[in-house]
Amino acid sequence: MKQHNFGAGPCILPQQVLEATSKAVMNFNGLSVLEISHRTKDWESVMDECRSLWKELLNIPDGYQVLFLAGGASTQFMTVPYNLLEKKAAYLDTGVWASKAAKEAVLFGETVIVASSKDKNYSYIPKGWTIPSDADYFHITTNNTIYGTEIREDFDSPVNLVADMSSDIMTRKVDVAKYAMIYGGAQKNVGPAGVTFVIVREDILGKVSRLLPSMVDYRLHIKNDSMYNTPPVISIFVMKEMLKWIKEVGGIEKMEELAKQRAEILYNEIDRNPIFTGTTDHADRSYMNICFVMNEGHKDKEAAFMEFAKSRGMVGLKGHRSVGGFRASCYNALPVESVQELVKCMQEFEKNEK
Ligand SMILES: *Cc1c(COP(=O)(O)O)cnc(C)c1O
Repeated sequence: MKQHNFGAGPCILPQQVLEATSKAVMNFNGLSVLEISHRTKDWESVMDECRSLWKELLNIPDGYQVLFLAGGASTQFMTVPYNLLEKKAAYLDTGVWASKAAKEAVLFGETVIVASSKDKNYSYIPKGWTIPSDADYFHITTNNTIYGTEIREDFDSPVNLVADMSSDIMTRKVDVAKYAMIYGGAQKNVGPAGVTFVIVREDILGKVSRLLPSMVDYRLHIKNDSMYNTPPVISIFVMKEMLKWIKEVGGIEKMEELAKQRAEILYNEIDRNPIFTGTTDHADRSYMNICFVMNEGHKDKEAAFMEFAKSRGMVGLKGHRSVGGFRASCYNALPVESVQELVKCMQEFEKNEK
């Protein structure tokens, strides 16, 4: 039976990407891609291609560097304040990832939470806040993977804007020039676990007075083309193949169109179907992680629906424990047909309930 992978991460990858990777694992110019030195021309060309695909697809302006690091987005929670926090940092608290990021900043200096939606279990994006103009940077999480809310606007910030885009990078056009830094784990929309992308405007670096250990110093990674130490070779290879696929399919514009299409199909059904309900404010609904629960009067059927959906090939639908219910993660490689099949499940389950 065909499986429909709604997993929240690591994510579904296109067949073409898996095939190209399998091939390179078996034979990459004579050896396995897993066996070659990263100090070879063959590998350097993979790095170069990956970097230029990032720049091309996201239209990254001059003055920015693209790094491929290890340690996951969670390591960046610490690396950002290490490099940027001199006196004061500001954070928008839109979920557990955002608050984990802020928690690390506290270790380095004064950390201000500009606004939080914790009062309603992060079911909306706070509005009406102001960014302190004396902060070294303002940190946001553009897509809140656990709760299903998203900021899809690139707003103006009076201070350096830093964004964790782990779960919505390459799913919409981004005006990179509005950000001082964008980072994230690759494993939600642009590849497998193991590699973290960092897009950083070079002129913001070198301004803090503390001394930086080598591995957290962005300037050192820039100087060494992300190969100060052994890079996560296979993860970068898969990411490069994923970016090639995005380009072939039609680039970011196409990814954005597909994301919108998938989200509309599913939210329309959630709103129409009397046994389901969404968990977030309509205005802040994520295109990536679509969270829903069963309505009052049907709550006891959640396990039954999960089983039913599973029997139809739906994988990874279980909501995060802090929200409950269901979460359909609709990342770049998820075919629109998978969402249509999920909608069919919801409609059939509704019929059986009557
Ligand atoms: C998954 C996720 C993270 C954590 O990424 P790791 O690479 O596992 O450290 C951070 N932020 C957001 C928004 C995420 O979705």
